[in-house]
Amino acid sequence: MAACAKCGSPTLIQSAQLTPFHGPHGLQQELTVQVAKDPMAMIMKEKIRSPLKVVICGSCGFVEFFVNNPGELAAAEAQQQKNWDKRNPS
Ligand SMILES: [Zn+2]
Repeated sequence: MAACAKCGSPTLIQSAQLTPFHGPHGLQQELTVQVAKDPMAMIMKEKIRSPLKVVICGSCGFVEFFVNNPGELAAAEAQQQKNWDKRNPS
C-alpha cells in the first residue's frame, strides 16, 4: 500500500496532472521532463521526454513526481557522457 513519503498518510492523490493553464479557451499542454542525449550538438540533440506523473499527499500536501520511462532517461544521460568523452578525448 502506497503512503506519503513525508507523513505516512495513505491518502494519495494520483490522478492530478501538472499542467500550464492558458485561460478558458487555451490549449492545455502536458508538462514533461526531457534529457538530451547530446546537449552540445547543434542539431540532433535526441531528446528523450516523459510526462511527469504527480502524486500528492491528501493529508500534508507533499508532492512527488514520477516519470514513465526512467530507464530511457537514464540511458540518455549515460549517452551524454559518451558524447562528451568523444568530443573531449583526454
Ligand atoms: Zn503526507
